[in-house]
Parts: sequence; C-alpha cells; structure tokens
Amino acid sequence: MNIVDPRTVVLLASLMAALMSLVLFFQWRSCPDAIRGLGNWTASLLTLCCTTLLGALRGSLPDLLTIAVPNVLLFVGLYLAYLGSQRFFDVPTDVPRWSVFIAVAAIPAVWFTLVEPNFRTRLLILALPLGLQFALHAHLMYRHGNRSFASNLLLVVLGGGALLQLVRFILLGLMPAENSAFSLASPQPLFLVAYMLIVLLMSVGLVLLATERLRSESQNLAARDSLTDAYTRRHMSEACQQELARSRRQGHTMALLLIDLDHFKQINDTYGHQRGDQVLIDFVARVKALLRQQDQLGRFGGEEFMLMLPETPLEEALAVAERIRAMADQPIAEPHCSISIGVTTNRLDNDTLDTLLARADKALYRAKDNGRNRVESA
Ligand code: GH3
Ligand code: MG
Ligand code: MG
Repeated sequence: MNIVDPRTVVLLASLMAALMSLVLFFQWRSCPDAIRGLGNWTASLLTLCCTTLLGALRGSLPDLLTIAVPNVLLFVGLYLAYLGSQRFFDVPTDVPRWSVFIAVAAIPAVWFTLVEPNFRTRLLILALPLGLQFALHAHLMYRHGNRSFASNLLLVVLGGGALLQLVRFILLGLMPAENSAFSLASPQPLFLVAYMLIVLLMSVGLVLLATERLRSESQNLAARDSLTDAYTRRHMSEACQQELARSRRQGHTMALLLIDLDHFKQINDTYGHQRGDQVLIDFVARVKALLRQQDQLGRFGGEEFMLMLPETPLEEALAVAERIRAMADQPIAEPHCSISIGVTTNRLDNDTLDTLLARADKALYRAKDNGRNRVESA
C-alpha cells in the first residue's frame, strides 16, 4: 500500500532539518565563545539537507548531481556533526585524517554512479563507512554526554543510524534491490524515511544539547562573582543550606571558614585599587588550587571570603585553614597580603547557617585581635 510518497517525506524532513539548522545558527551567533561546535553542527545540518534535496531531484538532474555529489556530501555532513560534537565536548579533533577518510569513501560513490552505474553495489559499499561514522559519533556521545535527555536522545538516534546502515548492508547483501531509491517495491524507501527521521531527530537533539549547555553556562555565570570568579554570596548561602541539611540527614559535619585579607585597605592606599583587585583575583585562584572538588569558595563581600567544606570534621578543617594561611603568607608577588581565618563546624543539632556564620565571624575577630595572619576556631 502506498502510504506516503517518499519524496514528500524527504522534502518535509529536509525542510524541518533546515529550520533546525537556523535555530542552531542563531544559538551559535548569540552564545558565548565558551560553547564550541555549534557552527559545525549548523554546517552539518545544512549539508545533510542539501544531500537529501539533491537526492530527491533524482531523474530530473544528471546522476552526478543527484547521486554522486549527495553521497559525498553525506560523508561530509556526518563528519561535520561529529566534528561539532568533538569541539562541543572539548575532545581533540583530527581533520586531516577524516578528510582522507571522506576522499577514500567518495571513490566508490562516484565510481558506481558514473563509471560503472550500480545502485546495489554502491549502497553496499557505502553502508559500512556511513555506519562507522554514526557508530563513532554515538560512542563519543556515550563517553562524554552527561546522560541528560538531549545526550540520551542523540545516543539512541546515532546508535540507530549505525544499526540502520548495518541492517541495510546485510539486507542488500542478501536480496536483489530495485534500481531506484524511490521505488516502493523494495525496502529502500523505508531506509530513506528512517534515515530522514534520524537526521531530523539528530537536529532536534543537537539543538536541545546546545540549549542545555547555554542554560547551565548562564546559571554558572550568575553564580560567580565577576571579579574573582569565586561563587556569589547568594549561591554560597543556598549551597550551605543544602549541605547543612544533607550533613544532618547523613550524620557528618560540614565546616565553614570565613577568610579575611589583612590590612587590605593599606594595599589599596599604597598600590591603588587595580592592584588591590589583582590581589583578590590571585588569592582566589591560589585557594581554589588547594581545594577538593566538592569544596566551595565564595566571596562574602569586599575582601572577605567564605569557604564551605562538606563532610569535614573540625581538625581537618583547621588543617585546611592552616594550609591556606601558609599559602597566603608565601609571597609570590608584590603586594603581599596575609589572611586571618575563623573556622567552625555544625556541631549542634539546631545549628543554622546564621549560627554557623556568627560563630565563624567571632573566631575571625579573635584571629584579628590576636595579631592577624592566623587561624582560630569557634
Ligand atoms: P583588617 O585586617 O582589619 O581586615 O583590615 P582591612 O584593611 O583589610 O579591612 P577594612 O574593612 O578596613 O578594609 C577593607 C578594604 O577592602 C576597604 C575596601 O576599599 C577594600 N575593598 C573591598 N572590596 C574591594 C574590591 O573589590 N577591590 C579592591 N581593590 N578593594 C576592595
Ligand atoms: Mg580585611
Ligand atoms: Mg573585611
């Protein structure tokens, strides 16, 4: 039964993929440079659209344009998508080697179209490199995707693409195929429709993946102090409340440190505000280098910082504080600035963030009173 005309499906799906590439294009133009690969994805979708549109014109234009060229463009389009994902996930790329791969894969595409026209042999030979491209891309998504909806969708779709080529290879090997991709007498149109679905779902997946990354980047940006890149006070407040609740449930202690730079006003007065800013930036970078991944450093205000250490008893927190103090006391450049630290942990059942902050502040004052450049606990 003739349910749908394959040409119509191809045209509609190409149109939708082209619209998706437009969405990606605008995301690419408006997104921060930190998100890479969007340009490659846009180019990939446009290339894949050209592939299917040219393919749909088969019979109306010379075979070179409607068979050989789209077959080569298919390799290029799939590689551009893969390259975009490599850039997106910050994985090393290898454009020269892939150019050779595409050039070699293009030979049978051209040969069995123009020199020795044979639909079946051409598809049979092309199915394997195409399947390989899908499989490698799926593997990349598996290794580096964050198991979000978008990366899972892409994993399934790309894996489906690889499987489709494998099934096609096996079926073509077993049964004689009709001589046209658009003939309904063979399973080829089914493959065409499935392939278009894959391109369409892949474009949806890529747009979603880019959107997810944009959202998390902007959340991350909003949670960071613009000068020092330490967390904002607001973010720290939420993170500490969460950690406090978790530590109560699970029965460990969290530590809270208030860190204040000593006589910082003198640095501004002597060296100027800009040099003072640089001291704050360097200080945060050096402290971060000492921390574990789960520790969070935030700017409490001015030249005062708060540090939250999950699952850390007092002795350990004091050791961390001492390491930070010693680090700050080790001058790397002029102007040099020592620090004072107040340390506390949530030992009481009814401790709240406010009581913790009050205790840490008291300890910090004691450190200042006792001569600065020291660590005190509540
Ligand atoms: P103490 O040892 O008692 O903490 O002395 P202090 O001079 O560090 O403390 P004080 O509170 O008197 O001065 C803090 C100074 O930090 C005053 C303010 O101008 C400076 N400051 C606050 N935020 C910034 C900033 O973002 N950049 C610069 N350069 N200076 C800042
Ligand atoms: Mg100070
Ligand atoms: Mg201060």
